[in-house]
Amino acid sequence: MLGLMQDWPLLCHRIIDHAALNHGERQIISRSVEGPIHATDYATLRGRALRVAQRLERDGIREGDRVATLAWNTWRHLEAWYGIMGAGGVYHTVNPRLFADQIVWIVNHAEDRMMMIDLTFVPMVEKFADRLRPIEKYIVLTDNAHMPATALANAVPYEEWIAEVDGDYAWKVFDENTAAGMCYTSGTTGNPKGVLYSHRSNVLHSMMAAQPDAMGVSSRDVIMPVVPMFHANCWGLALTSPMVGATMVMPGAKLDGASIYELLDAYRVTFTAAVPTVWLMLLSHLEGNNLKLPHLRKVVIGGSAYPRAMTQKFQDDYDVQVCHAWGMTEMSPLGTLCSLKPEYAHLTGDARLDIQMKQGHTPFGVEMKITDDEGREMPRDGATFGRLKVRGPAVARAYFKESEDVLDAEGYFDTGDVGTIDRHGYLNITDRSKDVIKSGGEWISSIELENIAISHPKVAEAAVIGVRHPKWGERPLLVVVRKEGQELSRDDLLGFMAGKVAKWWMPDDVVFVPEIPHTATGKIQKTALRVQFKDYVLPGAAAAE
Ligand code: AMP
Repeated sequence: MLGLMQDWPLLCHRIIDHAALNHGERQIISRSVEGPIHATDYATLRGRALRVAQRLERDGIREGDRVATLAWNTWRHLEAWYGIMGAGGVYHTVNPRLFADQIVWIVNHAEDRMMMIDLTFVPMVEKFADRLRPIEKYIVLTDNAHMPATALANAVPYEEWIAEVDGDYAWKVFDENTAAGMCYTSGTTGNPKGVLYSHRSNVLHSMMAAQPDAMGVSSRDVIMPVVPMFHANCWGLALTSPMVGATMVMPGAKLDGASIYELLDAYRVTFTAAVPTVWLMLLSHLEGNNLKLPHLRKVVIGGSAYPRAMTQKFQDDYDVQVCHAWGMTEMSPLGTLCSLKPEYAHLTGDARLDIQMKQGHTPFGVEMKITDDEGREMPRDGATFGRLKVRGPAVARAYFKESEDVLDAEGYFDTGDVGTIDRHGYLNITDRSKDVIKSGGEWISSIELENIAISHPKVAEAAVIGVRHPKWGERPLLVVVRKEGQELSRDDLLGFMAGKVAKWWMPDDVVFVPEIPHTATGKIQKTALRVQFKDYVLPGAAAAE
């Protein structure tokens, strides 16, 4: 017997309808790519999103067609998302930090019919536009006055393009499982993989994200998503913010410490989220200029592991609560967030920080487990490592144009991460499964070693990789970038680390390098390091041969 409740498909454009009707005057403030600060509100933004949808339809965009966006976080990009989805199209965020060949591959693979592009990226795309075969038209996210002379095919300024219609348009209505958005994940090997979000998954993910123990945001918040809309679905914030009716502050193209501080302060931002690199720049700007953050309540940090000192500084020096988060593009992207359950809420000092450095627990809608290599579930004892697997309504089941599902027999997706789960359900990521160091059949966490090395005051960046060892199979090698102008020796660093981890976890050697390679999303590129050090002979390894 079926229930007798209404059939109300979970469609993303209903979020902007809700925001416009119930929070219509709430502002969206952006640093425009042209320079000045721009302010609008949800009611106006919805009106313009309707024009985007109507105009796209006039250009022949139909249900399921992909429209690429190569753009910073601004009101125009936000309107574009809702307009594309409301016309039945699929927003495809392209990461401008990728190499030209990767962008070309991704756009061709996605078969994007149009590209909405910020002024910043026009010169870059002109260089390879002849290889972007499916793009019929470029919509430059600016007005006529700022429109550059460009060789891009059929390029039009966005403002004039949407002014050609009146906005008298009704959103398309379709099945909630219809595709809404797309984001490629670069992957460490092989070609990038397309993750295809549905309206349903995006709406459910936004509800999950808003919960008090997840992001915990409301209409009283001023939310600044520093995480770009082109990185992992903007961590849900482009949908969650209007869903709860929060004010939004969009940082545009300027993500340096001074620019971010300026917005945090001027618009009294209460909630923000980004990867650790952004916060390193902000903290250094605050320290250098003796500034405070009186309005900021909470900062979400995720995307990669980061030093404990970052949490300490935000909390102790600036009275800003830190929420560590873990997720991935395939999870829309939230997996876990580290709010404190009653079991941990009473902790103080180092014991509290120990918990806060964990990646946190799952909201309703994410199920996770850890298994051994044979797929046997491992205990939630906070000590046993396992491969981390997840399932839920906002987790990918397959990649775009790949017919095979990527799930195990019970419907779980293997995240490629390795971690522990404690008895209260807190995840601690110890590695990527490809990065974990297997020494004598036991696993050593490269992340834990990196976290200790990075807490040395003279270390700017640290990466640990497994290097071949004749007796143990693999042993850890620590690769370090010293802070500018600092002297630091191998023995000093190893001396500093000794006693902080089990003896057999200690790196066998340290090499100092001028820089460590990074991926387009700012993560350390361990594959490149492994190639660089593939023939490295560890001290004592030759003797064991
Ligand atoms: P992406 O899909 O680009 O967002 O990358 C997802 C991957 O980033 C995850 O599978 C993890 O390996 C890593 N990651 C994300 N958040 C964290 C975190 N808080 N701590 C450690 N690694 C993380």
